[in-house]
Amino acid sequence: MGAWGAKAEDTDLKEGLGMTRQQLGWAAKRFFFQAYLGFSLVTVVGGFATAPLMTYYFFGDWRFWRHWDPGWRLLFHGWAMVYRILRSNGEHSFMFSVPLTSPPATVPDRNLVHRRQDWEFGNSCGSCSNCCTLISCPVLDSDSGLCRGYNSFYWRYYNCGRYPTAQNEIEFYGCPKWEMRPERPAPTYAPAPVFAHTAEDR
Ligand code: SF4
Repeated sequence: MGAWGAKAEDTDLKEGLGMTRQQLGWAAKRFFFQAYLGFSLVTVVGGFATAPLMTYYFFGDWRFWRHWDPGWRLLFHGWAMVYRILRSNGEHSFMFSVPLTSPPATVPDRNLVHRRQDWEFGNSCGSCSNCCTLISCPVLDSDSGLCRGYNSFYWRYYNCGRYPTAQNEIEFYGCPKWEMRPERPAPTYAPAPVFAHTAEDR
């Protein structure tokens, strides 16, 4: 088969799946990450044996020795989250699903939410860390109150960077900063919240 024929078939496949090349890339990255996370949780030692990859995903840093303390606690946190999800009968409002093909995000969708008028800290989260402390996220640095995984792969591809996307998420974490816009399009992402926070610009 010629190169043109292969390209046409590739285009047909993507059109059939309703995905762009970029979306396929995001989906592939998430799929690999989720498989890796499952492997790490089931084997217990898998995440430690591949520590540079694990810390890259959660801290944006291959130097695993810098993240030893929150790193090992992530294992227990992962199991605790699985336990909570299994016990919640599909109604786990503390965690929302992010479609495989959705783009990574570092800020919430401003078409859906805006900062409350009485919020006095601008883009910062001030001293609030509700969306981390409520689920005892080990990535939060309790001394500084800042997220140690800010802008990492997990932060951008999953719940943290895009929080909030729905009213129930705002209510669940008691977020004092964001509110839904009165007139808004249907959410891009399926409902429910976070994992970490930062006092940096969002
Ligand atoms: S996003 Fe809202 S709940 Fe989370 S830390 Fe910022 S202000 Fe607090």
